[in-house]
Parts: sequence; structure tokens; C-alpha cells
Amino acid sequence: MRFGTKVIHAGITPDPTTGAIMTPIYQTSTYVQEAPGKHKGFEYARTQNPTRQVLENNLAALENGQYGIAFASGLAAMDAVLKLLKPGDEVLSTNDLYGGSYRLIKRIYEKFGIKGKFVDLSHTGQLPDHISDATRLIWLETPTNPMLSIIDIEAICRISKAKDKNIIICVDNTFASPYLQNPLDLGADLVLHSATKYLAGHSDVILGAIVTRDEVLAEQLHFIQNASGAVPGPQDCFLTLRGIKTLHLRVQRACDNASDLADWLQSHPKVGHVNYPGLAQHPGHAVAQKQMRAYGAMISFDLKNNTLENAHYVLSNTHYFSLAESLGGVESLIGHPASMTHASIPREERLKVGLTDSLIRLSVGIEDVEDLKQDLEQALQGY
Ligand SMILES: *Cc1c(COP(=O)(O)O)cnc(C)c1O
Repeated sequence: MRFGTKVIHAGITPDPTTGAIMTPIYQTSTYVQEAPGKHKGFEYARTQNPTRQVLENNLAALENGQYGIAFASGLAAMDAVLKLLKPGDEVLSTNDLYGGSYRLIKRIYEKFGIKGKFVDLSHTGQLPDHISDATRLIWLETPTNPMLSIIDIEAICRISKAKDKNIIICVDNTFASPYLQNPLDLGADLVLHSATKYLAGHSDVILGAIVTRDEVLAEQLHFIQNASGAVPGPQDCFLTLRGIKTLHLRVQRACDNASDLADWLQSHPKVGHVNYPGLAQHPGHAVAQKQMRAYGAMISFDLKNNTLENAHYVLSNTHYFSLAESLGGVESLIGHPASMTHASIPREERLKVGLTDSLIRLSVGIEDVEDLKQDLEQALQGY
């Protein structure tokens, strides 16, 4: 199956009991057994749920993996990955990552003796120096959030596996979505999604997922999930399945809009630096071209007159771009990483990666791009 067919059909068959074409929402906590231990493969809904299982099989196919595991949220999925580690182990990660992921490592797992090391992984030549005997997990996000740097997934996997083949490499593929990028094909062991974003796509669900080809890792993660309990409800699994059916159409349109807007912003007299991997002068453009189908629909930029006050004016005066956290929905969002998504990262750490107090982040939706341009234009003209 090709991608546009997988989103509709992979792992999805009509309901065996009624023929319902849409996967039913199995809103049940338990399943009746005929005799002790004699059941239809479902015992208790923390362990298995038929709606969830269909979603997991569909997700596995979208990422060219074997095993999909759906979680209560993206961070619940990350939490399960971190539980593969033990005290003394080190996580090597990008220094420009989702604030909540940074917080989970720094504020929760460091209490239990697992250390986080945050470096710029867009320069793969330095990678061997960053790997120590304690490194057990490499955590990647690309494009990064909110600076939109690009990390060469294939190079990171090749270099780190040559140094120590037991290192687990997990790529948080939320920003790209499986339509644009498939990390397992590039050598990663695990791919993680906040399905809250592009996969569900309509800003109405919190859900996470992990996909892998590795049977041992899949078993360990299933065990951790069942033991810790961070499962999604069947209604949320249904909504995610429904969202996925249009993933390719939504992401393609959002990427086309973003590419158009990035060009427009770049030539705007009031706009300073524009971060978008689709721009020819972006330092990661060639790698993005190699590992992504299109350049994504996230843009960040600052203003020529780079004050917090001007940024606040723009953020408060758009109409179609709603001021909100999150991304990946059909509607366009505008955000201020320093006070919103990345407030949990200390200011000096933020400044090191170029995340200034006035940086503005856009999640470009699927509206008519001319309306989006006009919306930004009137906000930029207002101050
Ligand atoms: C939103 C997000 C997460 C966290 O996902 P939740 O579903 O909100 O728990 C993790 N990584 C990235 C890149 C995200 O954008």
C-alpha cells in the first residue's frame, strides 16, 4: 500500500460483528470470559482494547514499523521510553527540543539518577565526543522546536551504532508526521508521536504513540505501559483514527501554505530572520530535502525591530492565527515560545540556541493562504 491508501485501510477492516465500516468505540473496561482464561484475546482494557488495537496497527503501518503502542499522551509515551533506562544511564538529546520533553528528563528522571545531556546534534561530526559509556538513549527531534533546525537522522544512527550498537535511538517525529518522514527507515529504533498534533489533526484529542520494528523493545514497552497504566481511552483512539484518514491531504496543504508564507515573510520589510527548512539558505535545507517529503508547516521568525513589545503586538492582533499552544491542527496557530511552550527551559539555555524573547512561532493550518498572509500583514502593519 502507498501512503494515501495506508491512512484509510492499513490495519482497518469492517467490524466483524456488524460490518460497521467505521471502527467502533469499544467503551468497556473488561471482557466476559467463557471459562477461566478462555477469552477472545481481550481481558482487561488497560491491557487491550479493540479500538486502540486498530489504531496501533494503523500507526505501525504509517511508520513502516511492526508494532504500534498508543499512549494517553505524547509525554506518557516518552515516559515509557525513559522507563527502559536505569539509574546511572544517560540520555543524549538535542538542545532545542519540546519544553515538556526537557522537563520530563530534567525534573523527573534526574531525581531517579538518569542524566540528561543536551547538545547541538545538527553537527553530527561532534557526536562521538558526546557519547559516553553511560549513554543508553539518544533522543532526537527534527525539525527542532522552535528553531526548526534539521538533524541528519541517518548519520546520527550510523555514527552512534558504530560506537555502541546497544544505544537506543528514539526520534520524536511529531513536527514532521509520518507523511513527511519515516525515522525507522533511516535506522532509528523507536519513533514517537504526540498524535495530539498532525496525526489527530483537529485540536480535539490528547494522545501519544510509539512505533518500532524491534520485538524486544515492543514487549518491554507493552510491559511498561500495562504496569504503569498510561493508556488512551477508546473515544480518543477513534478520533485519532478519523483524523489520520486525511493526514496526507492536510499535511500537504499545510506544507504548501507554509512554504508560501515563509517566502513572503522573508521578503517582508518588518521581518527579521525566518527559520524554515524549505528556504534554500536554511543550514539544514539539503538534509531536509534528503530525509523529508516536504519541509513541514512550522515556521519561526523574529522582527527587525526586535522588541518584546512589538512581538506582543503581533501575537495579540492576528485573527485567523489563534494565540495558543500546540500545533498540527487544521487551524493556524501563533505562539510565543519564550513564555508558552518553552517557558520551562531556563532563559540562558533558550538564548544559547537563538530562542530570543521576541521569537514568534507559527503552526500553519490549511486555510486559504491569501487570508493567512493578509492576517499577518495587518498585524505587522499595526505597530
Ligand atoms: C506536544 C509535543 C509533545 C508532547 O505531547 P502531548 O501529547 O502534549 O503529551 C512531545 N513532543 C513534541 C515535539 C510536541 O510537539
